[in-house]
Amino acid sequence: MAGRVAVVVVVLLTAIAIWQTRGTGPDLSRVAVVRSPAGVMGTTCTLVAVVPAGREAMAQRGLEAAERELREVDALMSTYLESSELSAINRAAAGEVVPVSTQLRSVLRFSREVWQASNGAFDATCRPMIDLWRRAGRAGRLPLDDDIAAARSRSSWEDFEQLAGGVRKGRQSARLDLGGVAKGYGIDRAFDVLSAAGCDGVLVDVGGDVRVGGCDARGERWMITVRDPFGDRRLTDFALDAGAVCTSGNYERYVEIGGVRYSHIIDPRTGHPVDRLPSVTVLAADAVTADAWATALGVLGAEGLGLLPPSVEALIVEGDENSCRIHADEAMEQRLGTLPAPPCEVDR
Ligand code: AMP
Ligand code: MG
Repeated sequence: MAGRVAVVVVVLLTAIAIWQTRGTGPDLSRVAVVRSPAGVMGTTCTLVAVVPAGREAMAQRGLEAAERELREVDALMSTYLESSELSAINRAAAGEVVPVSTQLRSVLRFSREVWQASNGAFDATCRPMIDLWRRAGRAGRLPLDDDIAAARSRSSWEDFEQLAGGVRKGRQSARLDLGGVAKGYGIDRAFDVLSAAGCDGVLVDVGGDVRVGGCDARGERWMITVRDPFGDRRLTDFALDAGAVCTSGNYERYVEIGGVRYSHIIDPRTGHPVDRLPSVTVLAADAVTADAWATALGVLGAEGLGLLPPSVEALIVEGDENSCRIHADEAMEQRLGTLPAPPCEVDR
């Protein structure tokens, strides 16, 4: 989201899942019109519209509309912007009804569903714990157990009520954070707008999380590359004509305290940052689902694979660069044919 706090949140790996086109020869009947706006959700952004040659102006209009969608979602759901609807909820007093857009309403409903389905691992109400660990990062001191317990008790879904007129909190201390899902939602909104513009193919990539539809400029399926979380190399790739791929990585963003890196993903069951998973890549029909489940599996690890909803697939690299394992659900394993070799065992 916009304006990440650079001191405590370090971007180590930029795009983990990247896209590329491949094919044997040029097909001049279609062109890919590309837009790479800066400053979208505080990360890199690439929007691609594949259209019949001669329809570039239509593609440009679609791309501009898609960019507007992404910026609007950020403006509504960022915790970095005081003016967002999410910040208004977080500031609100107990009992106050905060009016919210249909977009935020739908992301809150979805986030709560994933909270239930993931046995509490994905918890958009864990904002007090995120704040606590960010403050600890700035102070360079680990939080005390009592502070962790207090942060855990400050906010839960029971504190939030969705009414016709908006959202009402039961306690002032309750706080939301949609950092684990808003990007995916924004990608879906941009994708829908671009698809409605009449393109033969669409790709929306925000910070390495992608959604694709239709074909690339050569009339082929989009190639999705999953990067090795320990180095700037390919782990595996697969072709996709429709769907979204989102990656959560422990070492992608973190706070550093006493020389130790702590993940930006919090395990709501303990109040501590998770320390097991370098990389979780999730494939789903839409990006909001892939994004939320990538964060959920970041907490649950391979044990969470059994909780994935039907037709959601995942590839997990568990461990570190000295000792790691690859896990996947059955559908992902079938898609890849064979699982890639664990990246820690490859000669690097
Ligand atoms: P992602 O990179 O999509 O995995 O999202 C990580 C972001 O989600 C963090 O920077 C937090 O803003 C938020 N977050 C951290 N832990 C959780 C959690 N257990 N459930 C939901 N959101 C979380
Ligand atoms: Mg996520």
